[in-house]
Amino acid sequence: MQVATGKSILNGIAIGKIKIYKAPKMDISSELITDIDGEISRFDEAVEKAIDQQNALYDKALVTAGEESAEIFSVHAMMLEDEDLTDAVHEIITRGKHTAEYATKQAFDNQAQVFAEMDDPYMKARSADIYDIEQAVLNVLMGIDTDSMQGTEPAILVAEDFAPSETVRLDKSLLLGMITIEGSSNSHTAILARSMNLPSLIQCKSVSDDWDGKLAILDGYNSCVYIEPTDDLLASLTAKQKDDERKRALLQELKGEPNTTIDGTTIKVYANIGGPSDLGAVQVNDAGGVGLFRSEFVYLNSKDYPTEDEQSEAYKLAVQTLAPKQVVIRTCDIGADKKVDYMNLDPEENPALGYRAVRICLTRKDFFKTQLRALLRASDYGNLAIMFPMIISLRELNECKILLDECRKELAAEGKKLGEPSIGIMIETPAAVLCADELAQACDFFSIGTNDLTQYVCAIDRQNAKLEPFSDTHHPAVLRAIKMTIDAGHRHGIWVGICGELGADLSLTETFLRMGIDELSVNPKSVLPLRKQIRSLDLRLEPGAAQVAD
Ligand code: PEP
Ligand code: MG
Repeated sequence: MQVATGKSILNGIAIGKIKIYKAPKMDISSELITDIDGEISRFDEAVEKAIDQQNALYDKALVTAGEESAEIFSVHAMMLEDEDLTDAVHEIITRGKHTAEYATKQAFDNQAQVFAEMDDPYMKARSADIYDIEQAVLNVLMGIDTDSMQGTEPAILVAEDFAPSETVRLDKSLLLGMITIEGSSNSHTAILARSMNLPSLIQCKSVSDDWDGKLAILDGYNSCVYIEPTDDLLASLTAKQKDDERKRALLQELKGEPNTTIDGTTIKVYANIGGPSDLGAVQVNDAGGVGLFRSEFVYLNSKDYPTEDEQSEAYKLAVQTLAPKQVVIRTCDIGADKKVDYMNLDPEENPALGYRAVRICLTRKDFFKTQLRALLRASDYGNLAIMFPMIISLRELNECKILLDECRKELAAEGKKLGEPSIGIMIETPAAVLCADELAQACDFFSIGTNDLTQYVCAIDRQNAKLEPFSDTHHPAVLRAIKMTIDAGHRHGIWVGICGELGADLSLTETFLRMGIDELSVNPKSVLPLRKQIRSLDLRLEPGAAQVAD
């Protein structure tokens, strides 16, 4: 048996085989070739194989997901047969003496660009399909077996690190746990792992390629992984895993119960989500609403700018499914660690202090307005609230509101029906805390993003694993900033919540309640443990007299 340690980001046990995940390297050489016919045949054969793969995916999806979802694969197969596209590749190989890979990338990228610039939303969306089939052809040409990257059986996935865009694309049904060599506990990948309730280890330095395929136990309680565990250990940790399941089942009894302390203080407990696929978890865990819909995951899940229609469908689905519960949708917080190729964001010296969130939205106004229009359209279907991230000044909030008004007028003129979404902001910068009195007079609610607030108050890059020894999530400055925000919000009659990871920290629930917090929004799996904790508290007792929930 081998034991390796790391940093646990979720208490829990995962048992299963290890799968080493290696992202493909797409180094496309611009070297010139001499065997033109040979290169054309390589390309033609790759296209044939890619078509076969799309047809096989169609057959599989027909059984698992139904006709409507499967349809896309037959469309892809048809697109791969398009002679204009294959002629363009042949031309680049013949005239430019380029490799099949290089020619495929050039020709398909050009075609995708043509679609992306079209006005018709349907045609615009075809650009993402071109990128999909381009990837399929390149995978064949470069011998990349995407199935074997994650495998076909449930496994504990081990990787150097995962980008948020990779994590969202993983097949969740095949994930038992995650282990990374790098990573920090407050990164978005860690947040995603928590929200998927996946026992995970980060900073596990002694990962080795020969773990691949071996049985392992990821022990999140003890921050370690056992490779080829002994029978005794397997038996005791299987029992612990069962015990966890039993405790989770007991929590089900709290469904439908109020989030009320023994002395009668009630708060809202909402859930954080990354998109419509998390709605089931919101319902199953009986959250009172959604306190943070990280809309940037809609962008991360997409190969090109999501259109107004696509976005409006995603937001409408959330709002309509949960109505009359409130769904707080945060406008796109892209940038820093959350990047997508199609936005062409420049590399930056200090990305966390850089061009992100409303800073992008307020400079790329058409981009922002597409989202605001989609949100307003979805607001007609339920209880939607719009929340702006990374605000540092009243001027920024007012600019966001002016653009929102512009969109409202445009849509009204087009005869579209709209709701009346309430408007809130995230408090995640020291500037916002210090200006909270002014900001509270210009919006309907505050939601404190403790992940970024901690990073900016303590000047600790949340992505930098080396700084973890210096990081203190309970730093008094952060707790004081939270209290100042709550007080400022209440002075002006608006509600104040927390949607950062600290909201789920049960050792702070009592502190937050004593501060007067109105809402805590946590990953769906933390809703019932948090409810249990709230219900165990009696604020008439001395602080700390209540037990932390097990
Ligand atoms: C936060 O900063 O606390 C927050 C909720 O936003 P994110 O983690 O997505 O930056
Ligand atoms: Mg944030």
